[in-house]
Amino acid sequence: MMRRTLLSRRAARGVGILFFLAVFVGLQLRAEEPTPSKAIYNTFSDEEEMATGRKAAEETEKQMPILDAPLLTRSLNDVGQKVAQASRRPRLQYSFKIVNTDSVNAFSLPGGYVYVHRGILDFVLNESELAGVLAHEVGHVVAYHSMNDVARRALVDRGIYEGKKAGLLSDQQVTDMMERYGGPILLFVDRKFNREEESEADMFGFYNAIRAGYDPQGLIATLGRLSKFTGNPTLVEGLLMNHPLPRERVQALREELKQNPPPTGLEKDSLAFRAAKLGMKSLPPAPPPLPKKPTQ
Ligand SMILES: [Zn+2]
Repeated sequence: MMRRTLLSRRAARGVGILFFLAVFVGLQLRAEEPTPSKAIYNTFSDEEEMATGRKAAEETEKQMPILDAPLLTRSLNDVGQKVAQASRRPRLQYSFKIVNTDSVNAFSLPGGYVYVHRGILDFVLNESELAGVLAHEVGHVVAYHSMNDVARRALVDRGIYEGKKAGLLSDQQVTDMMERYGGPILLFVDRKFNREEESEADMFGFYNAIRAGYDPQGLIATLGRLSKFTGNPTLVEGLLMNHPLPRERVQALREELKQNPPPTGLEKDSLAFRAAKLGMKSLPPAPPPLPKKPTQ
């Protein structure tokens, strides 16, 4: 009798463990948006991140040709702000600008400064595709990818660390920090993200696009076409260099879509986007890309 009770207790515990495992595994497999996780050593406030981004943006715009096309930039901003306001970090002051080169590339600086190369505006076929690209870039900001990197460097840099202990970073400290780390191009623009960071930015981008009212197929379709791109490889080099694109990224997003189907009726395209595409045709051709400065 005693033995039977013991056995059934064991069996009950076994069932309990199995149940726990089923729930745990189920939770792991459930499709859901990750939570933005700031690295423990990243003690920069949003204001400090925005100040760093502002300085990096000033320097970047001195070195890269920014397209002077107010209507086009405004329509890019309309899509970008929709995505940014629906993101997990809506308090940052986002800005979206166009770099006047034909290569297919996009990058973001800390604090919400997003740049798309003109070539990507040619590459995307509808508004949801553009929204997907922007949502992915905003995803890198939401996930603190670049700022965590700055914080990691600052941790071993006494000057910055002491400055931070004294309170909010001053403009001069932000300038010094940027100079010490080789400037924004080296620090942020040409930075190669790793596979985990790309997947995280994809997931933030996927859910972000949906919350902003865009069909997430836009992001999936753009990445899918990029992964099979057979045209001039130098045109996509930038994007693939800074955001390596293994096929699994597209596969992971398709899986997410299957497990968590978005509501119907999401926006795919708009008249404004069509008009912007037409407007691009009347622009003078982009200047040839600037020769890359050798890195130190
Ligand atoms: Zn990326």
